[in-house]
Amino acid sequence: MSTTPNHAEEALSIELMDKDSDGSDLAEACLEDYTNVLVQYQGGGYDGCFWEWNYFVLDKAGNFHDIASSGYKGITTKEKALAYLEDDDKDSLYIYKLNDEEQIKEFDRECNAGHVVGCTNKIAELIEAGVDIDALYWFCDECGAKVNDGKATDYSGCGGIAVQANTKLCEDCYYKQYYEDNDDEDDDD
Ligand SMILES: [Zn+2]
Repeated sequence: MSTTPNHAEEALSIELMDKDSDGSDLAEACLEDYTNVLVQYQGGGYDGCFWEWNYFVLDKAGNFHDIASSGYKGITTKEKALAYLEDDDKDSLYIYKLNDEEQIKEFDRECNAGHVVGCTNKIAELIEAGVDIDALYWFCDECGAKVNDGKATDYSGCGGIAVQANTKLCEDCYYKQYYEDNDDEDDDD
């Protein structure tokens, strides 16, 4: 993901600018940047294991919602989330504005299919529960359709611990592939 623009650094430079100029109003303005966003950060850190991508969202009111957090590096509260976002020394992270299609496309393109589908479904659940945040969506790897439900598929093990999906398909393509695969098996018999 090293070739993608680093939104974290953009956010950080805005913050530093604000601190140079003056007080708390600007600090508030800075925090407004952290609304309606999906944040991808390096969580994990179990004994003997490396980091893994974790996710949280901040809704339009700036409320924190955990999407996936793991290990001692997992972020589970708004306080920790803001402290992390404001930390100059943090590990790399990506911030995706949920009303910015280009940033959502970047997330779709750069991230593991299972994570993209998982985050999308989790945000849909939040919206269903009344949280004020824009829906996430992704693009079918087969037909390119813009969807917000569908399936991650083509799973492969990753070091025997994490399981990751390599493909995400809209319902139509998923069932088409599923039935075609079954037809192939029938033909072989
Ligand atoms: Zn499709």
